[in-house]
Amino acid sequence: FYLCCMIIDNDTICAIASGSGKGALSIIRLSGNKAIDICNSFFHSKNLNEQKSHTLHFGTFKKNDSIIDEVVVSVFRQPNSFTGEDIIEVSCHGSSYIQQQILHSFVQAGARLAKAGEFTFRAYANGKMDLSQAESVADLIASDSKAAHQLAIHQMRGGFSDDLSQLRSELIQFASLMELELDFSEEDVEFADRKKMLDLLQHIQSVLEHLMNSFKVGNAIKNGVPVAIIGKPNVGKSTLLNALINEEKAIVSSQAGTTRDVIEDVVQIQGISFRFFDTAGLRNTMDEIESIGIQKAIEHAKKATILLFLLDATQVIETQIEELQKLANFPITNPLIVINKVDLLPKNSHTIKEAIYISAKNQQGVSELSSQLVNRLGMDSLNNGNTIVSNARHFEALQNALKYIKQSIDNLNNGLSSELNSLDIKQALFHLGEITGEITTDDLLDSIFSNFCIGK
Ligand code: GDP
Repeated sequence: FYLCCMIIDNDTICAIASGSGKGALSIIRLSGNKAIDICNSFFHSKNLNEQKSHTLHFGTFKKNDSIIDEVVVSVFRQPNSFTGEDIIEVSCHGSSYIQQQILHSFVQAGARLAKAGEFTFRAYANGKMDLSQAESVADLIASDSKAAHQLAIHQMRGGFSDDLSQLRSELIQFASLMELELDFSEEDVEFADRKKMLDLLQHIQSVLEHLMNSFKVGNAIKNGVPVAIIGKPNVGKSTLLNALINEEKAIVSSQAGTTRDVIEDVVQIQGISFRFFDTAGLRNTMDEIESIGIQKAIEHAKKATILLFLLDATQVIETQIEELQKLANFPITNPLIVINKVDLLPKNSHTIKEAIYISAKNQQGVSELSSQLVNRLGMDSLNNGNTIVSNARHFEALQNALKYIKQSIDNLNNGLSSELNSLDIKQALFHLGEITGEITTDDLLDSIFSNFCIGK
């Protein structure tokens, strides 16, 4: 049902744009060619039809002669508005009764309730932003850490779109030259310089691979970086979590995870959300049960971006590492080795170079551990303003585009016909175009915009 409705129509749409729950103020938004007229029939102090774009007006909102609220109305005229249409935003007091009264008034006067994401959809359909920018609006609203916010802002301001449109237009140039060759196939001419073409394809291949590599970090930043703390009971896992929370003075949430025995704590470190998984309730139990607990931790470990081996400084380190490696039924490469309880060691006995020595109990070495966690992500590219892919749909499209770029490189190297090559390049262009929305299907638009909230 939703799908067939996501077309741009002449309706004026309305919705509460501010969040649910009681705030001091609330915003009700109208978009469409009747927006100003509709609001004007309830607004008293001046005629909104005579007001310029980007202006604010104070007055009363009246319904059937009774005053609903004192409000401030913003007027945005097309095409310089978020949706590209006339927009009215009414700031009223945060009462849900007032909000509903204003919304009802608008609907009675001919507006219709907006569907999820419909304002942003109109912005996209009216060419105010491309698809990846529209998606970033949802990411921006959902961003709850500095890093996630940075990714979304970069994308909303067109960072990703710029990178891609450059590649696409170069590729389109070659594609059209190849098409031309096909038209002249009798005469055996080559309009498209094969050497330049190969250079371009190889360049695109490396850009795509680079973008795809960034997805692991991008996805982790968006959803919180999963860190699995793996260690035998009593090595200090809970104490470490508490220490990290103390150090950062910012715990976002703490809740039981999918399995009863797994605790997830979200801690923000240097503006990045880290999701720590720790097994709980397995202390002082028999070995067999302990190992079940460790198996559960290992299930999480498989999906984690960072694996943290927590060891007890008073026991033989190498044996502990071996034990943990053995318990895991998958090869663990490059775990972050953290040795706890150094307060129990004599001074200068920190012998393992690549390990971080801490005393969780005394809050010692915890800030170094925090920095190491951030370093592991390789966030340099984010700080350099490079594009980081954080959207699974984009990743998939890049993957598909890369497949055809590689085929096309093979074709060229093997001297295959321009016909084949032109097909592969067209496919690559198709998948690149999917990201920014030059190429879309109703299904795709539906699945993107239906994930928005109403009013966005
Ligand atoms: P878990 O089973 O791995 O979660 O371990 P806990 O965090 O419950 O800690 C087990 C025991 O080790 C507790 O008695 C802690 O007080 C103690 N412990 C934790 N960290 C340290 C530390 O840095 N130094 C010392 N001396 N004891 C610690």
